[in-house]
Amino acid sequence: MVKHLEYSTKERVQLGYALPVMEAFYTIQGEGSFSGHAAYFIRLAGCDVGCVWCDVKESWEQDKHPILDIEEIIQDAKAHPGRLAIITGGEPLMHELGPLTKRLKEEGFQINIETSGTHKFTGEIDYVCLSPKKFKAPVEEAYKKADEFKVVVFHKSDLQWAIDLSEKLNPNCKLYIQPEWSKRNTVTPLLVEFVKENPEWHLSLQTHKYIDIP
Ligand code: SF4
Repeated sequence: MVKHLEYSTKERVQLGYALPVMEAFYTIQGEGSFSGHAAYFIRLAGCDVGCVWCDVKESWEQDKHPILDIEEIIQDAKAHPGRLAIITGGEPLMHELGPLTKRLKEEGFQINIETSGTHKFTGEIDYVCLSPKKFKAPVEEAYKKADEFKVVVFHKSDLQWAIDLSEKLNPNCKLYIQPEWSKRNTVTPLLVEFVKENPEWHLSLQTHKYIDIP
């Protein structure tokens, strides 16, 4: 850690020795295939995707959030008993993740990422949840790396879009559709019918919001 202090803050962020962090907290993953698992979330700041329904718009401007040395992140993550780390955002692939993921691996963490897949991958990631957005297309490698494909459905037309994109995925990628939170009352019944007709897809709900935890 000390050997990187000769770099400026901007250089340390570019190299991934420090990162803009909106928040980091220990909770239970509410969505997708790891729903119900205790996890340490690292929400990195910065996003250039611009989803109109984004529920973390305050993450978009990375300059509004503190820059933390990765050792600060690691020390807080280690203070909790769980060894599943979920890197999210914002769009976490806007950042160099090599040093952070290396240190998390050294401390015994499994590393999941939640990404729109719009930037190149860096670092050592164990499990990729690709959540594509209509506002900016994923890069091609994202489809190949995805272990889980989670489409947030805002309008029923998103379902055909999800099917079309899923053709680019590896055959063993898990498929999820999830109602956008503000539309959950009208969209969820459509998704239930969709999954009954298309059983290769699974319904994901934001269970953490239903039980009011972060
Ligand atoms: Fe918000 Fe995620 Fe969309 Fe970025 S990619 S605008 S953080 S929902």
